[in-house]
Amino acid sequence: MNDAYTLLGLNPGVAQKDIKRAFRRLAMQWHPDRNPDPAALERFRSLRAAYEYLLADGDNGSDVDADAPGPGPSAGTESPPRGADRRQDLSLTIEEAWLGCEKSVRIGHEAECGTCSGTGQEVLAHTRLCTACHGSGRVRVAGGLHRCETCAGRGYSTRRTCTACEGSGRAEAWRTLAVKVPPGLLSGDELRVAGAGEPSPDPKGPNGDLRLRISIATHDLYRLEGRDLKLSRPVSALRMLAGGDIAIPLPGGSLNLHVEAGNATPREVRVEGAGFPAGRGQPAGALVVEVLPVWPEACDKDQQRLFDELDAALSRRTKRHFPEVADWESQWLPGRRSGRH
Ligand SMILES: [Zn+2]
Ligand SMILES: [Zn+2]
Repeated sequence: MNDAYTLLGLNPGVAQKDIKRAFRRLAMQWHPDRNPDPAALERFRSLRAAYEYLLADGDNGSDVDADAPGPGPSAGTESPPRGADRRQDLSLTIEEAWLGCEKSVRIGHEAECGTCSGTGQEVLAHTRLCTACHGSGRVRVAGGLHRCETCAGRGYSTRRTCTACEGSGRAEAWRTLAVKVPPGLLSGDELRVAGAGEPSPDPKGPNGDLRLRISIATHDLYRLEGRDLKLSRPVSALRMLAGGDIAIPLPGGSLNLHVEAGNATPREVRVEGAGFPAGRGQPAGALVVEVLPVWPEACDKDQQRLFDELDAALSRRTKRHFPEVADWESQWLPGRRSGRH
């Protein structure tokens, strides 16, 4: 069906890629969305029919991108190859991971050497006598005179190997990419930055992705166990006896943790959902605070008097308030009614 070739402005038997290119160009021109000509729709349909016919004729009847006239990424097997993905580590503080942040990521890539513009050679300002043959253009090898390879027999040189790249013409270049990190990523999670990977070997092909493997740095206060956030907090033992709220610092602010009255032994207080935020389909973790009682130091006379009064009040019922003391005294001081003066 040579009509199909004619319609696409092609010579019979051209390669598939030429058919595709011709169709894309004409489809852009005749697509009814773009072309107000009343004949455009009809023309577009016949172009597409010709295109489909020629491709089906070609070999495997490769997929036809029927609706999109422009070049698109959905061209199937014929689309140019993607570049490779680039993998790097990205270290975050707990605060950054908790709240989300924007990080500058340095990406190294190969580029042309700036000194020699990729040629690997520098052009000298003045010609120099060739150091290998001392200007004669010949060197003595195995008893015979041979043409000097260094200067190609000229005896002088106008170029030398680029000292910056040692002749490779390539240099490591760096660029900085601002990456938005959503809140709630944990160590081992991967953050993908589409298109920031290696370039495709085909200039028309898309770049690979940048895949950042998250690691969360250790913290002086917080520890993470999964999404549970753990920390220890010293608290006045008297406050623990009296009960009340204690402030807990969190990356996003602070939280008042309620401590039940009654005893001043070390304990863990857990608040479900107040830990590391939800992310990647996982719910938020728990906040787990290890409350450590601390007894007062350096008390003055007035404070000591208060302790004395408190102790006296409690010691009226030693068995109830100090059972261990009561047991000990009944064993070793059986004659005395608990240790009051
Ligand atoms: Zn030479
Ligand atoms: Zn160079």
